[in-house]
Amino acid sequence: MMRAIRGKNTKPEMLVRRALHAAGYRFRLHRRDLPGTPDVVLPRYRIVVQVNGCWWHGHDCPRGQRRPSTNVEYWGPKLERNKQRQATAEASLIAADWTVVTVWECDLEAGIAGLLRRLRRRQRIQVDTS
Ligand SMILES: [Zn+2]
Repeated sequence: MMRAIRGKNTKPEMLVRRALHAAGYRFRLHRRDLPGTPDVVLPRYRIVVQVNGCWWHGHDCPRGQRRPSTNVEYWGPKLERNKQRQATAEASLIAADWTVVTVWECDLEAGIAGLLRRLRRRQRIQVDTS
């Protein structure tokens, strides 16, 4: 169960991918050549979209703050490492002039319009490198 929530091709991520596709964005997935292997990359706009599961990334929301009831000594440090690792990757991306847009699982419950608005605001004209 936990394994299903973690990792790639999660339900929130699929939702984001479908919405981006429908909005005409071209994107790449899980680029290993970028710090942290970001979920969704919009190369044209040099934007990285990170889709965060609230629980896995310790979001400050009810779902994110629900602490694991079993194996606390295992999950506590593990979740903390998740956060740390992501913060480090994000700093590296920003240093390399990427724009990082973080989407939380709970944001998506209200739909995808907010994300599309945020993306449009963050888009910069990029030199076409393709
Ligand atoms: Zn959340």
